[in-house]
Amino acid sequence: MKRKILIVVLGMLVVSQLPFAYRRYRLSRLRRTIQQLASQRVPQSTESEFIDYQGVIHVHSSLGGHSTGNFAELISAAKANQLDFVIMTEHPQQDFDTAAMTLSGVHAGVLFINGNEVPTSNGDRLLLIPGSPNAASAGSQTTQELVDKQRAAGGLAFAAYPTDSANWQSNSVDGVEVYNLFTNTRRINPVVMFFDGLWSYGRYPELMFANFFARPTENLKRWDDAISASNRKLTAIAGNDAHSNVGVSVNDASGKQLLGVKLDPYERSFRTVRTHVLIKKDRGLSRESLLEAIALGHCYLSFDLFGDAKGFSFAAIGAEPKIQGDEIDLVNGLSLKASAPLNTRFVLLKDGNVIDQKSGPTADFPVSSPGVYRVEACLDWLPAPVTGQPWIISNPIYVRLRPTAGPLISQ
Ligand SMILES: [Zn+2]
Repeated sequence: MKRKILIVVLGMLVVSQLPFAYRRYRLSRLRRTIQQLASQRVPQSTESEFIDYQGVIHVHSSLGGHSTGNFAELISAAKANQLDFVIMTEHPQQDFDTAAMTLSGVHAGVLFINGNEVPTSNGDRLLLIPGSPNAASAGSQTTQELVDKQRAAGGLAFAAYPTDSANWQSNSVDGVEVYNLFTNTRRINPVVMFFDGLWSYGRYPELMFANFFARPTENLKRWDDAISASNRKLTAIAGNDAHSNVGVSVNDASGKQLLGVKLDPYERSFRTVRTHVLIKKDRGLSRESLLEAIALGHCYLSFDLFGDAKGFSFAAIGAEPKIQGDEIDLVNGLSLKASAPLNTRFVLLKDGNVIDQKSGPTADFPVSSPGVYRVEACLDWLPAPVTGQPWIISNPIYVRLRPTAGPLISQ
């Protein structure tokens, strides 16, 4: 009888592990495909008048609490990922200025900007770029008061976690964090994560993310709706929300780590999702040129874990070349052109709705009506678990109907 029970228990154990063995197999297949795609990558065109700088936004260190990360880890992770910039967003502390104390300026060739993440009195959370010495008292001020102060100081204010609050839409924020890596990781079922960890973490630590990656549909909808409702520009960015604090470790009495598994080290976070910023060649990368380009919406976000997106472009082809983030008048023959360093499927959205899609390394979309146009690029060649998920999310080109726009197309 005991033997029978043992056999049944063992059988159940084996069956319960089959899905995780299959999930490990899927990651091995995914890694092979990513490597094949990387070998097909077409380098960035040198004709563009813009340079594509890659970096990460929304990063915490131990200065603001909730994080164990230190500056040395941050700098080496940025270098290992060949990042051009890192925008720190420290939580404020009552008795010291975390923005003044965090990384700022150029370190090991990487430009750091010292920002804050703050709550507002009406329930929003803002990323202040750069940060403020008064960040600790932000919670007693409204979103609009903080945005106004930030603007007066020449800085930017972004709505973080856009589905967690409902006030930022009616305030003049500069943009929205449409993807947050930390929020995405919090959706993981811990039991599933535990067994995935046992089966796949040792071999595919960087691809564990792929098992739970999901298009930020609700955030994108809030962003699209906010643009439509306010009829003004709002820049989309990706937030890494990197804390380097999820995991387990066993330390000896001196604090030396004996055993450790960290699920969100900076290096892995910085490889997974990035914000790419386009700056004119003659400007070069500086604190000023970076903030100016982000304010203009001259940027896109990409899940570079699946393929290096550097060189992606979304531009209006016309008398006056315009890129993502720009406004353009509707004229006869207006066309929007998307191109990427890999064969991809470009999905064109107008005012948040899919209206067309084309595959290839480039795609032309003729435009005959005003609206807010943006593209999402998908690598359909990637197998499960990321089939159909976006690789790149662009900022919009705002096609406006203006009396001075010249001969207009009848609709
Ligand atoms: Zn954060």
